[in-house]
Amino acid sequence: MQQPLIQARDLTRAFQKEGTVGVAALRGVSLDIERGEFVAIVGASGSGKSTLMNLLGCLDRPTSGSVVLDSAEVSQLDDDALAEIRSRKVGFVFQSFNLLSRTSALENVELPLLYTDRSDLAGPARAALEDVGFPTDRFSHHPGELSGGQQQRVAIARAIVNDPEILFADEPTGNLDTTSSDEIMALFTELNNRGRTVVVVTHEREIAAHAGRIITMQDGQIASDEPRSGQGTAEVISDIPPAPEVDG
Ligand code: ADP
Ligand code: MG
Repeated sequence: MQQPLIQARDLTRAFQKEGTVGVAALRGVSLDIERGEFVAIVGASGSGKSTLMNLLGCLDRPTSGSVVLDSAEVSQLDDDALAEIRSRKVGFVFQSFNLLSRTSALENVELPLLYTDRSDLAGPARAALEDVGFPTDRFSHHPGELSGGQQQRVAIARAIVNDPEILFADEPTGNLDTTSSDEIMALFTELNNRGRTVVVVTHEREIAAHAGRIITMQDGQIASDEPRSGQGTAEVISDIPPAPEVDG
């Protein structure tokens, strides 16, 4: 049997705040993500969604617990090793697009390729922009000349140009109107249908409904983990233990 793409076990993450006891952002999270899944992580603001995504995506290290990504334990790696894994295996999309404003759409998508040994940057960047349905006649436009939905398409193209194992998106529709939000979620569905593993973090239930599996976070723990429509196989790995006192 194939290993899950991600196996997270007993993850905790505490943030120290000056002059106070630490904030327990995650309090014992275990989950598997299989190759080819489309997962939404939902929950109220402050429930630990971004903290969890950052751990699964090698942007951060847990206070305790383990993350195995593509059969390799990553939870104890140093910053350089994490960055190296991210550049090969993980793509990220954020609410605020994070595009370089004085740089064309095409050049924004070429950026991640600068850190690889590829000589042809424009070819793969063009292919990625076409993959996300970005209009060819705007490849040389700067972000300021594009709509929000178009900017997010550029950001998604940039996230997949290195052909990562998994694509993470943190509130990707947070700056978009309803129509653009639906289009961007339809794009994630299409990328998933073409075989890519996708994890979308959102506080909006309607957005999460596009995914095949919905994990609900509450107070730093998984409150529920369910397939959207009966036919999935997702299961909750551990029961939720009683909430420990956080601030003593
Ligand atoms: P969500 O994405 O669900 O809104 P987060 O994962 O961002 O929630 O945050 C969970 C908790 O951890 C919140 O109480 C938040 O204030 C805290 N937190 C997150 N990141 C940091 C940080 N870098 N420093 C201190 N506290 C943080
Ligand atoms: Mg968040």
